[in-house]
Amino acid sequence: MTTLPVVETPPPGRRHAVLPPRHLADLDPAGRRAAVGALGEREFRAGQLSTHYFGRLVRDPAVMTDVPVAARGRLAAALLPQLLTGVREQSCDSGATRKVLWRLHDGALVESVLMGYPDRVTACVSSQAGCGMACPFCATGQAGLTRNLSTAEIVDQVVWLAGVAARGELPGCPPRLSRVVFMGMGEPLANYARVTDALRRLTDPAPAGLGLSQRHVTVSTVGLVPAVHRLADEGFAVTLALSLHAPDDELRDELVPVNQRWKIAEVLDAAWTYAARTGRRISIEYAMIRDVNDQPWRADLLGRLLAGRLAHVNLIPLNPTPGSRWDASPKPVEREFVRRLRMGGVPTTVRDTRGREIDGACGQLAAAEVAL
Ligand code: SAH
Repeated sequence: MTTLPVVETPPPGRRHAVLPPRHLADLDPAGRRAAVGALGEREFRAGQLSTHYFGRLVRDPAVMTDVPVAARGRLAAALLPQLLTGVREQSCDSGATRKVLWRLHDGALVESVLMGYPDRVTACVSSQAGCGMACPFCATGQAGLTRNLSTAEIVDQVVWLAGVAARGELPGCPPRLSRVVFMGMGEPLANYARVTDALRRLTDPAPAGLGLSQRHVTVSTVGLVPAVHRLADEGFAVTLALSLHAPDDELRDELVPVNQRWKIAEVLDAAWTYAARTGRRISIEYAMIRDVNDQPWRADLLGRLLAGRLAHVNLIPLNPTPGSRWDASPKPVEREFVRRLRMGGVPTTVRDTRGREIDGACGQLAAAEVAL
């Protein structure tokens, strides 16, 4: 991406607990009008700015020719501050997969991935800098939580990536970004208010938001039970992905430590409530870890937990993190696991492992940067 913002960046490691500057994407349309009015500008300029940012993916005041020159700079400075600074970009799959490492205003690092396919373009975004869930196989989990991202820091990742797709920079892919998955850094439901606000910005029709289809937005969670129930009550139809990774509490207590608080039965119960409320099929995420969770009996147990439910299993070949004692399951073991689940009546797919050679797994690019 030649168009990444290039500015002076704070030295790595600088940290303060200062909120990021307020941004258009933090505000709903009424809030934007009020903010524009408070700057002494006519309130309809809020709609113009929103059309540029959400509708045209434009943030450069110089091209906002429908706004008087005198007002452009002031409005952009107040409502479109630069939140994300590109630090490093990697690509693979002949340019169809792009990974960007961003530095935030306080030096915190987060990453986003753009994946182009012949029929769709997906953005994978971060909801927190770091993560407090401490899953031992996940690179982000090792470093702990730095902070929650603001609504606009989440939305702006998507707007940048949508701009890359719109400029036709993904060979052989449609120019319109159509899907967003919250599978970058962080636990989205631990940053509930900002993430649900971001869901509104992503799915409200332009110019209020980006106008993505709710069903094409996936929130992936370890299963914070009260937050899953709360999300079910919001009236969103976003897809819920549940990172299960084990069908028995003994192993899940280790792989997903939050299981010590909310057990599998409770987590699945919340997921079925979500499915019933929204009509959306739950995606059960299961990282295949050699000799840890990939035994035939665990496939059978998982099948019994899920049979007859509105769910499918998405197996993820483990992407081993540096220094980890764990490895991905061998392919024949994976195939047997799939076979048993399907025999048990559970739709199962194996996730495409896009971006593996660019440290596409959760947190690895940021971890590499910190290690430099
Ligand atoms: N906190 C959210 C989002 C995390 S990333 C969640 O846990 O769901 C999205 C998925 O990638 C999760 O299912 C997560 O468990 C999985 N994941 C993390 N590290 C991985 C690794 N090294 N290999 C394979 N999958 C991994």
